[in-house]
Amino acid sequence: MSIETVKKVVELSSSLHGGCVHCNASTVDSDDGIAVGVNHYVTEHGYRVLHVGQQSSWAPDGKQLWHSTVALLGHDNPPADKKPPEIIVGGNS
Ligand SMILES: [Zn+2]
Repeated sequence: MSIETVKKVVELSSSLHGGCVHCNASTVDSDDGIAVGVNHYVTEHGYRVLHVGQQSSWAPDGKQLWHSTVALLGHDNPPADKKPPEIIVGGNS
């Protein structure tokens, strides 16, 4: 796969915790770093690592500088995204 053929890019960050965009796996856990998420996308969905680097951002209080590791993963024939969760308003619960 060359980078010119990439049709979808996923970003993982050690400061953001979220689930996989394709399935319900929770890809990033604060204790495991982003390697677990990277491995998930590579082995489960066929992504390739495009870039790994460092990102710095100011904390909401504007006093602390947060450093995080980011990874960009690309796919030239990505599987479909998972459907957003169904929201039922006013259901019988
Ligand atoms: Zn997944």
